[in-house]
Amino acid sequence: MKNVQQAMGDFFQRLKKDGYNPDNISPALHTVEKIVRLEQLRRHILTCTDCALCERAEGRVPGTGHTRTPLMVVGEGPGEDEEDWGLPLVGISGSLLTLILSKAGIHREDIYLTNVVKCRVSDEKGKNRTPVREETIACSKYLKMELELIRPRVVIALGKVAQQFFFPEQKTMGPHRGNVYDFEGIKVVPTWHPAYVIRQRGDDLLKAKKEVWHDIKVAVHTLQELLKA
Ligand code: SF4
Repeated sequence: MKNVQQAMGDFFQRLKKDGYNPDNISPALHTVEKIVRLEQLRRHILTCTDCALCERAEGRVPGTGHTRTPLMVVGEGPGEDEEDWGLPLVGISGSLLTLILSKAGIHREDIYLTNVVKCRVSDEKGKNRTPVREETIACSKYLKMELELIRPRVVIALGKVAQQFFFPEQKTMGPHRGNVYDFEGIKVVPTWHPAYVIRQRGDDLLKAKKEVWHDIKVAVHTLQELLKA
């Protein structure tokens, strides 16, 4: 397969020779390179067998969305619907997330969504379970590559698995959710996973809804301030 970086270098020389302005060529080639690299990453994930999760998983679920977005949402891993449809955050919790984001003025099509783990994590009875550390470590290389390629300004980390990908020293979600943390120059706001909100009832449900709404508004406000600066 052609080396992407080398190909972009060749394209640059060719277009320059044909009289195009180098200042315009570079950003165009940068965009093309990013699209190619994300597609290569997607194909790689789709055939990955790097950990035991691939034995039970019926498909891999790479990230998806806008490639020039300043906002990325990172969840834990695909559930049954996500595995079926091959897309992250499209089940009931993804639908709730889409609803909350749209209330905050964020259109889902304008952002990038992904998970820490790209295969469904289930137990022997086929029920979702939390990935163990070895599984998140095996798969987190893909999220690192997505972060490098998309380079978001703000990340919303949904749930403890996503939170601990960025900040392994944070052992619980409660004291940290809704705060803005720095991860290699990216602002990260942890919040409850929508699946957690859906599981709540009564006063706990009201509290979780209020907290997630607060945290999403913090993330959106942080992004707006960064884009203004
Ligand atoms: S969970 Fe990640 S590392 Fe493990 S097989 Fe699936 S894609 Fe590969």
